[in-house]
Order: sequence, then C-alpha cells, then structure tokens
Amino acid sequence: MKVLKVKLNDRSLKCGICHSRIANSSKIYNSELLFIPFCYNCEKKFDKEEKKVILTLLESYGGYFGIFSREDYSLEKDLNFIIKKNPKINSKEDLDGINSKLLHNALLHGITIHEYISKLELLI
Ligand SMILES: [Zn+2]
Repeated sequence: MKVLKVKLNDRSLKCGICHSRIANSSKIYNSELLFIPFCYNCEKKFDKEEKKVILTLLESYGGYFGIFSREDYSLEKDLNFIIKKNPKINSKEDLDGINSKLLHNALLHGITIHEYISKLELLI
C-alpha cells in the first residue's frame, strides 16, 4: 500500500472510510483505485479488497463507516424492510443492488464485511 506524503496544512483531512481526523501525516494511506485517503486504523482493519468494496459503496450511497451506533444495527430488520420494498426480485441486477444496500447499511453501523457475512450465515 502506498503511503502518501502530505503536508497537513489542511486540518479538515479526514479518513474516507471512518471520517476520523488524520493528524499524523505519516499515517495517511491512499486507495489505489479511488484516490481517497484513509487512516492508519482503517489501513490495519481492512484488507485491500475490503477497502475497495467499502470505498465504492460509501462513494455510491454516502455516509461513512460507523456513522450510526452498532447497537442500532439489525440485519433482520434490514431484510424485512427490503422484502417489503421489493416484493419481487427479477434479475441479478436487482439482487446485486439489494446486496449492496444491505452491506452499505451494515458499514454505516460500523459492522465490518467479515462480521456482516457471519451474521448472514447465521440466518441461513
Ligand atoms: Zn479510518
């Protein structure tokens, strides 16, 4: 992973994943695909593929990792909501869109991709 050399004159530099302020210029990392900076904690927490998925979803749907409380997250509630809104799934695109929205909502609640998959597996 490439470490960016950035002078931190801009105090508003925030992690593209968790929105924490990046105070140490030696701890700024950059997504190779989207050129979005992220912090040391996110660099450690997520592997390359996870960062790609997370940054893409946050770019598409907004928000940031952990914007909402983990205690408020319920996969069952999300699934019930989606089922009510989408009574018919007609194509792979429909399914991909639903999967993306479910994972995005998990991320907003600070649930990692690994945790999300574990929760899904418990329901199957
Ligand atoms: Zn971060």
